[in-house]
Amino acid sequence: MTAAADAVAREADRLTELDSAIGDSDHGGNMRRGFEAVREELGEEVPATPGAVLMTAGRKLVSTVGGASGPLYGTLLRRAGKALGSAERVSREELAGALRTGIDAVAQLGGAVAGDKTMLDALFPAVEALADSGGKDFEAARTAAEQGAEETVPLQARKGRASYLGERSIGHQDPGATSAALLVAALAEADTA
Ligand code: ADP
Ligand code: MG
Ligand code: MG
Repeated sequence: MTAAADAVAREADRLTELDSAIGDSDHGGNMRRGFEAVREELGEEVPATPGAVLMTAGRKLVSTVGGASGPLYGTLLRRAGKALGSAERVSREELAGALRTGIDAVAQLGGAVAGDKTMLDALFPAVEALADSGGKDFEAARTAAEQGAEETVPLQARKGRASYLGERSIGHQDPGATSAALLVAALAEADTA
C-alpha cells in the first residue's frame, strides 16, 4: 500500500492529464487523495492480517474518493481482502487468487467487459499473467498490465465518463487503466522488496 501510494503521488499529474483528454481532469487528484488517506489510516494502526489491511484500505478508498474509481478500486481491495480471510500469512498464489476475486467484483459492479477501455483492460491481463505463472510471477503481471493500459489507446470507451465522447475517446490512453498498471507495478515492486 505504501508503494502504491508513492506511485500514485509520483504519477498523479500524468493521470490527471490523461483524464483531461477523455474525462473530467480529476483522476490524479482522486487517486492521490484516496491513497494518501489509506497511507494515513494504515500509519496509525496496521491491521493484524493481510486480509484486514486490504479491507481497511478498500473501505478508505470508497469513503474518500468521489469519482468512479473510488468505489471500483475500493471494491477490488475489499473483496480481495475478504477472500484472504483471517490468515496471518498468505502465499503469492493465495494473493493472486484473491486479486482475481476482487477484479471479478469490479467487473460485476461496473458492468464493464474486456475492451471497454477501463481499468479492467490492465487488470484482466495482469491476473491472466499471474494465473499463467501459477500465481507466482508478479513481474509478468506488471508487464501485462502496462501493455494492457497502452492497448487502450485505439479503443472506444464504452463505460464511464469517457464513453460520453463516443468515437472521440479513440486515440487516448485510459486514465484508469494507467493507474491500474501503476498499482500492479507497485505490487511487483513490493514483492521484490
Ligand atoms: P470519474 O470518471 O468519476 O471522474 P475517475 O476519473 O477517478 O472517476 O476514474 C475514471 C476511470 O474509472 C476511467 O478511466 C476508467 O478506467 C474507470 N471506470 C469508469 N467507469 C468504469 C466501469 N464501469 N468499470 C470499470 N472501470 C471504470
Ligand atoms: Mg475523472
Ligand atoms: Mg470525476
